[in-house]
Amino acid sequence: MPAGVKTEVRTYQTYINGEWIESESGKTFPVYDPATEEVIAQVPDSNADDVNRAVSAAKAAFEDGPWASTTAQERGRVLFRLAEKIRQNAAQLAELEARNCGKPIVEAEFDINDVATCFEYYGGLATKVVGYVNPVPDNAMSLSLKEPVGVAGQIIPWNYPLMMAAWKLAPALAAGCTCVLKPAEQTPLTALEIANWLADVGLPPGVVNIITGFGETAGAPLVQHPDVNKIAFTGSAAVGKIIVKQAADTVKRVTLELGGKSPNIFFADADFEAAIDGALFGVFINQGEVCSAGSRILVQKPIYKKFVDAMTEKTKKITLGPPLERETKMGPLVSKEQYERVRSYQDIGKKEAKLAAGGGRPAKFAKGYYVEPTIFYDVDNSARIAREEIFGPVAAVIPFEDEKDAVKIANDTPYGLAAAVWTRDIFKAFRAVKALRAGIVWVNHMQPTYVEAPWGGYKQSGFGRELGPGGIEEYLETKQVHINLNEAPIGWY
Ligand code: ADP
Ligand code: MG
Repeated sequence: MPAGVKTEVRTYQTYINGEWIESESGKTFPVYDPATEEVIAQVPDSNADDVNRAVSAAKAAFEDGPWASTTAQERGRVLFRLAEKIRQNAAQLAELEARNCGKPIVEAEFDINDVATCFEYYGGLATKVVGYVNPVPDNAMSLSLKEPVGVAGQIIPWNYPLMMAAWKLAPALAAGCTCVLKPAEQTPLTALEIANWLADVGLPPGVVNIITGFGETAGAPLVQHPDVNKIAFTGSAAVGKIIVKQAADTVKRVTLELGGKSPNIFFADADFEAAIDGALFGVFINQGEVCSAGSRILVQKPIYKKFVDAMTEKTKKITLGPPLERETKMGPLVSKEQYERVRSYQDIGKKEAKLAAGGGRPAKFAKGYYVEPTIFYDVDNSARIAREEIFGPVAAVIPFEDEKDAVKIANDTPYGLAAAVWTRDIFKAFRAVKALRAGIVWVNHMQPTYVEAPWGGYKQSGFGRELGPGGIEEYLETKQVHINLNEAPIGWY
């Protein structure tokens, strides 16, 4: 493409009841490429009226449409077909994802592969949902039946746009629910693209509806809607708290995956080279825009100085660049808002601790929301950069004395999403695993995530679990059935 020639700015519509339609207001808002700061698409600015239309389509599809009588086998096949479509179009989806959220193309390719894997996993699980026979002490048969929870509202963040959508759509559809999905306003494009294939793979109209819009005007009406039975949310802790309050009036089922300030703990006996890599990967992957980012790096005192030096040296060599270049290891942050937020934490950090690397905006880019990977050390765990989720490539390195000290600092946070511990001592590793208050604990690694294993947090990192066999449970109700086998009156009166 010659310099100065712009790609076409596409205007999308809303996907409701199997059709592409205009939003009620007709208004749209721009979607950006954070590397160029240019508008790459316009999407509908949905409001409560659009939410009402999407929810009534989802409710009708749940109650009266063909989906209600679709067998688990067929639902499984639908998910496999969707996974296949995603694999066939993986290159284009990865490119769109990378352009829209700024992540390196190589990472976006991993994401899209995971998206397909997630649909395949829950496609297989659709036929493994089983109930129970309860051993009640009577001449009766007591059953527990598993049934879909109904209409699921799904609110998605911008860091892993299509992957977070898949984590929610796949188990919901396997369970037999219908969905209204709202992507993040910054990154709605890949979800809108897959909507093109939903009818082809066999989803009846209304089973999946996709509305774009902002949190307060499109997300909140979805949370408050009386016909939405469940909300699944991934996003900030602040919004998670609002959602719990807003869901209370209609007693909605809610699952939340919120932020974290996850500790990545390095004992002096850890494999040093692997440890340095693990510390950097833990906090800088996806520009640090990761809910489970190992943003507190706890290092035992005997290796502390050497560790900070080695991290610093490697960090200076991280290749920042345009998301679509294959050598790029770190792209721009997702938005101007996020850029400013992270820049402000870089400034806060300079007042609270010592700076080892980064701390600003890389000089080589005229445009784009790039920030330097940043390392602060001698950070006190009470500092703001150690307590508040930054959601960018900013590491806080904290020294510790011994095992007891490490666990105490690690758990001293309102969050509890993830933690990691690095040591060659199996006893120490397992003691730490037991003591850490987090929903995911890695030993000698940080970040690998599998659709087969549960994901979610302790404490203020949320509740409920996505992925794994338990992920589908969050979309199921339990119906207890009692069948009296006595052909006689109770005889009480
Ligand atoms: P960030 O602060 O990084 O923008 P958010 O938690 O605000 O993260 O966004 C995550 C998702 O939650 C987005 O889809 C956003 O539109 C949505 N959202 C934001 N505010 C609300 C709200 N009050 N009610 C429902 N959804 C919301
Ligand atoms: Mg927001």
